[in-house]
Amino acid sequence: MNYQSLLDSIATEVAPMIGQGKVADYIPALARVPIAQFGIALRTIDGHTAAAGDADTPFSIQSVSKVLGLTLGLQAMGPTLWERIGREPSGNAFNSLVQLESERGKPRNPFINAGALCVADRLLSAHAEPARVFAELGRQLHGASFVFDEEVARSERETGYRNAALVNFIKSFKQIDNDVEDVLALYCHQCSIVATCTQLAHAFGYLANGGEQPGTGARIVDREQARRINSVMLTCGTYDAAGEFAFKVGIPCKSGVGGAIVAVIPGEMVLCAWSPGLDETGNSVVARRALELFVTRTGLSVF
Ligand code: GLN
Repeated sequence: MNYQSLLDSIATEVAPMIGQGKVADYIPALARVPIAQFGIALRTIDGHTAAAGDADTPFSIQSVSKVLGLTLGLQAMGPTLWERIGREPSGNAFNSLVQLESERGKPRNPFINAGALCVADRLLSAHAEPARVFAELGRQLHGASFVFDEEVARSERETGYRNAALVNFIKSFKQIDNDVEDVLALYCHQCSIVATCTQLAHAFGYLANGGEQPGTGARIVDREQARRINSVMLTCGTYDAAGEFAFKVGIPCKSGVGGAIVAVIPGEMVLCAWSPGLDETGNSVVARRALELFVTRTGLSVF
């Protein structure tokens, strides 16, 4: 399969769609991102790469960082991480508060904001300098520490009333151990990681390769944990569109409101597609279509 010509043809095919949707203007620093951008990149576990469009343009990874948080949480705590965080799809918006009341402060999964905030709390308990642990993970995953955009982090911290409500509410059930401000600061910091499609397709290689980073052989998580991260991505990685993604794309995906979607084809490769225009569920319209085209043309799917 010639992946380069396939990505080129997908980029041509989605070009007329670019501009559809709406950028994440609820975070002031992201409201300024030009919508007319699209990139796609892939990296196979044996190191072949292909890329098209704006694959080397940096963007805010936002909720894609929730996969990194879960990875660090499993590294630090193993399966005890699941005592405070579930692994069921929520069927609600990524920033919803509604289920927490009846479920007594236990978020449905680590890929909605409530769950990722709980993971951040666990990381604050496990590490003296969790922000540095996040940055260093980048070194293991793509050979350079992750880069953070402090302006995006500050902008979200200043206007993130819902996230503040979520942490306070969860803490009222005694499911958050650390200071509310510290949890919010770490969460906004991790969401502000800046990366390109090419870098993310590289960084998440361990999820396609049983937990071991292709190329370096670094063990990031064990095989069972990698399998579980992928299954939670499939069922929960795109919030209340996860069913539709499984139906149309059929591989584990994690999206972020910066417009990126990282997709894992276990045993084969990682893809990252990016375009800032989002649908009403917070998933990139064009990135989703590009992934759907890729899976349809290659027949590569977990189903
Ligand atoms: N930082 C964003 C928020 O908390 C992340 C959401 C997302 O990417 N879905 O709203």
